[in-house]
Amino acid sequence: MGPFKLLIDGRLEDGDATMDVVNPATEEPLAVCPRASKAQLDRAVAAAKAAFPAWRDTPIDDRRKALLAMAETIQAHAPELGRLLTQEQGKPLEAAVGEAYGAAAFFRYFATLDLPVKVLDDGPNRKVEVRRRPLGVVGAIVPWNFPLVLMAFKVPAALLAGNTVVLKPAATTPLSTLRIAELVKDIVPPGVLNVIADANDLGGELTKHPDVRKISFTGSTETGRKVMAGAADALKRVTLELGGNDAAIVLGDVDPAEAAPKIFNAAFQNSGQVCIAVKRAYVHESIYDRMCEELARLADAAVVGEGLQQGVQFGPLQNKMQYEKVLGFIEDARKDGKIVAGGTAPEGKGYFIRPTIVRDIEDGARLVDEEQFGPVLPVIRIKDGEDALARANASIYGLGGSIWSNDLEKAYDLAGRMESGTVWINKHAELDPGVPFGGAKLSGVGTELGEAGLAEFTQSQVINMAR
Ligand code: NAD
Repeated sequence: MGPFKLLIDGRLEDGDATMDVVNPATEEPLAVCPRASKAQLDRAVAAAKAAFPAWRDTPIDDRRKALLAMAETIQAHAPELGRLLTQEQGKPLEAAVGEAYGAAAFFRYFATLDLPVKVLDDGPNRKVEVRRRPLGVVGAIVPWNFPLVLMAFKVPAALLAGNTVVLKPAATTPLSTLRIAELVKDIVPPGVLNVIADANDLGGELTKHPDVRKISFTGSTETGRKVMAGAADALKRVTLELGGNDAAIVLGDVDPAEAAPKIFNAAFQNSGQVCIAVKRAYVHESIYDRMCEELARLADAAVVGEGLQQGVQFGPLQNKMQYEKVLGFIEDARKDGKIVAGGTAPEGKGYFIRPTIVRDIEDGARLVDEEQFGPVLPVIRIKDGEDALARANASIYGLGGSIWSNDLEKAYDLAGRMESGTVWINKHAELDPGVPFGGAKLSGVGTELGEAGLAEFTQSQVINMAR
């Protein structure tokens, strides 16, 4: 496997140091990964800065062609990238290959967008127009749950707008991103796209770097705060996609047999390591017992194992820290509620935890109030939608949420009053590159995806001409 290299100024190079990347299914080292030094980060930023003027002035049609070529390349290598992603991230192979195809589709989507000049006034006395200009060097910082798709939220939008990029994947999942860097490096001029890997120590340096004009960050709320603080001195732009504690509110007219599999998938996909997973299910008392039974049945039937094995639905937790954190949530849940499925970590190597359903648990319990980011779902009994909405909105987070009901009028009404960036009705966690995505409250600042997401990689410029 490998060798893996950093991409700096159009050249593949070794890191000034190395680090092991561990396979979370085996806990064995998977590959040796280059680890960039601060000096290499500085060279990556300098290369991006030097490449910026020419890339900014490159016609948008040419930038679009570059994105399409990257999409083609990623798509053509999706099976290989998916295999690598499974080994470093843990998710089942089918999901990992799907993620690689998804990343290609996001590049392709951004290639369809434009940044047209908007004419506000074209009268006898003046012409006023608004243009969108790129910002300069963009730092793109990605977490470990969806390394490829979350990279593809950022890189194609930044490049299409005419920015240059320094991309930094998470320390535990850098390999598939470095492989993409190797595959696409000749599609754009040297310095336009740089990729470095770190041991969780260069994100702050990238954030504070005086020559970086924008940080596009996905990760935890805690780190998001540091990013905002680090960006403050230079008043650089930030887009922050942070943690969540999405509530699914299930009203009494719902058929548990029909809704349970959808809620189960939205809670446990990627072993629950999804920013917009269902992290709390508020279920009406009239269907509460049946819903708990259905969810427990699905959890008991789930196939957990190494992602490369056929038929596996859920892989391990991605890293030891997260594994131990989720085990801690389960221990607390034993005291705060009743575990009706899972609650165990299979013997042997690998950070595996079985899908876990906790019932008879209330707000105020840690599993309900905090973000578990793992395969443990609390199911909370509610009296009505209003009661549940108040509890859902009491969270510090506001990323996503969902309302489940056959009474669509009621569902719309509740949805409109939910304090989150996205509210789904009778589904949860659907993402589409053309639909803007962002969090309320401590779940984020700004928007990714869609035209609004592209606009965040630009600065508006007004030209106001006398006639
Ligand atoms: P994290 O915040 O620990 O790390 C994310 C990235 O930030 C990594 O690349 C890391 O190396 C880097 N980083 C670390 N310290 C930094 C610093 N001081 N300055 C800048 N960057 C730094 O998050 P994680 O544990 O990798 O990811 C899990 C979290 O991400 C969860 O809370 C989850 O909800 C959230 N998440 C949010 C979204 C979203 O779109 N809102 C999507 C996926 C994950």
